[in-house]
Amino acid sequence: MPSNHSILPIYDFSVSLNNGYLKNIIPFLTKNEIAANPINYAIFYDYVAKQNPKLNSAVDELLNNQKPFDCATSFALYETYICNTSLNSIENINEKIHKVLLQATDAIGETCTKAEQTNDSFQKKTAILEATSELAAGSSILQEIIQETRSLAATSQAMQVQLNAANAEMEQLRAELAQVRQIAVTDGLTGLLNRRAFDQTLSEIIEQPCSETTCLSMLDIDHFKQVNDTYGHTIGDHVIKFVATLLKKHAEDHHHVARYGGEELAIIMPNTPKHKAIEISENIRLEMEKSRLKRKTDNLTLGQITISIGIAELQPNDNPESLITRADSALYQAKKSGRNKVMH
Ligand code: GH3
Ligand code: MG
Ligand code: MG
Repeated sequence: MPSNHSILPIYDFSVSLNNGYLKNIIPFLTKNEIAANPINYAIFYDYVAKQNPKLNSAVDELLNNQKPFDCATSFALYETYICNTSLNSIENINEKIHKVLLQATDAIGETCTKAEQTNDSFQKKTAILEATSELAAGSSILQEIIQETRSLAATSQAMQVQLNAANAEMEQLRAELAQVRQIAVTDGLTGLLNRRAFDQTLSEIIEQPCSETTCLSMLDIDHFKQVNDTYGHTIGDHVIKFVATLLKKHAEDHHHVARYGGEELAIIMPNTPKHKAIEISENIRLEMEKSRLKRKTDNLTLGQITISIGIAELQPNDNPESLITRADSALYQAKKSGRNKVMH
């Protein structure tokens, strides 16, 4: 499952998780007589991982209608839903910006030409006016000058209208770009930051010279395989979403909450002393311990689901990897000492 659907998908998950997908994908391809080529594998990897709802709907529709999975079909799916979504949007926006700028340049060019022509004409007419002593001839030249001045004013007014329209269109494009940028950093299932955004944010924070303490809290759902095995992958996904909302609820506004991968979530906590990071993590753990999730279809209460959390505090010589490794070992300690714990 790619951690996002930005320009290039990232498949940065554990060997065991990938093996799990492999075991599902191959029988699925065989059953539906679909060639296990790399493109189809990528499509069904996303399909099995259920991270890309639009792709799943498109594939379901094809399968339900027993449409053949030929090269053109699978390439179109791959291009539309896996690789190119954001790239296409960016190219589209780029093209539109280019068009708007061309239109604005044309409007300005037109007005400049008109102004130059009017200027030439005024100079000629001024010379005639200076040379003529006849009142009637002078008056007619003055009329012409007034006409040309009006015409120039109308051209610059038209330019103003076009520039205003260009400005409005640029505003709209800026909003579209912001939306694409948002998609590129967001995890599709939980709405949290995706792994790429997590990596980038952590690097940026570590690179900034800062006298305040930064902490990293890494969280993993306990016995999550069992949750999937007992209730199915879809309920598993809902559990991940629920845990994500808990993190959002307890994290502070300046914290960065991310899906690190699979059922592992993380909070980067800049300007946060360790005791505060522990307090927040403990509150999340406690609320999860007390929560009793219900299956929507029949109101069945799922068994208790708990989480384990590891916290590390940023040290002067840390890089992202060393900080993550320490948070991860604290998480491992939490698992080893019985789970449903916060360790640091
Ligand atoms: P532990 O307490 O040691 O963490 O046990 P665990 O069963 O949770 O073990 P582990 O963390 O290694 O297993 C992760 C499982 O999470 C395996 C994988 O099938 C499942 N998983 C990973 N990502 C997703 C996802 O996006 N949706 C669902 N439903 N399951 C996922
Ligand atoms: Mg895990
Ligand atoms: Mg787990």
